[in-house]
Amino acid sequence: MYHSIADHAVARYQTWTVTPQQFAAQMHYLHSHNYTPITVAQYAICRTQPELLPAKPVVITFDDGYADFYTQAWPILQYYRFVASMYVVTGLPESTQPTPADLAPIPYMTWAQLHQIQQGGIEVAAHTHSHVKLDTVMLSQAEWEIRHSKAVLEAKLGRSVTTFAYPYGRYSPAVCAAVKQAGYAAACAVRYDMSALNDEVLALARIIVQPNHSLADFAALLTRQGVRRKLLVQRLKARLWRIALRAYLTTVAVPTLGAALG
Ligand SMILES: [Zn+2]
Repeated sequence: MYHSIADHAVARYQTWTVTPQQFAAQMHYLHSHNYTPITVAQYAICRTQPELLPAKPVVITFDDGYADFYTQAWPILQYYRFVASMYVVTGLPESTQPTPADLAPIPYMTWAQLHQIQQGGIEVAAHTHSHVKLDTVMLSQAEWEIRHSKAVLEAKLGRSVTTFAYPYGRYSPAVCAAVKQAGYAAACAVRYDMSALNDEVLALARIIVQPNHSLADFAALLTRQGVRRKLLVQRLKARLWRIALRAYLTTVAVPTLGAALG
């Protein structure tokens, strides 16, 4: 999971920015070790038809739709003929509104650029319309964000959108149900873990590639043991949050939803 690919990260956004040199070395590693990237939409299909999975599958995702994907990441992906999934906040391309405070104040891809990368094999999918924390807003607003972002992408880019990514990786059982109801086949969470075929399809695990990761760290994160060793603290935090949410839902809010969180 990537966000911005740039030489100089803007303040407060260092953690979410990987340099083009790091990204190029990481893609070279995947290529030279015979990994085959697939999109999240393809991964969703492979989960029910595992025989379709390539020998060493990897899913490369980008959140938020920054223009540096177009200028920095995409040429590298094209060089290796790699596909990827891009999760776009549909209210941001060509918007004259100020960027929401939690997102980087850097340019976003235009609709023409999004169309171009889609034509080039990148899955362009939904990340809400205004990047809200879906588990903290009214359910009706969450449902609108989930449905509207899909409708905007389909109208602007003319292709059906089948996957979704939760802003901040934040979701609840009710939010997952709304994603399913809106017609998505799969949705990406964060969870700092490697996704498995028996993963919850509406909360797929992802690993954030960070600027302080060396190439050896990156290589380790492609193995289950490496993920367990390097991301222990983050995985525990993510799991504790899910346990706390489940306890809250079960005892205070909606018992059936708490049980559904698993
Ligand atoms: Zn985001």
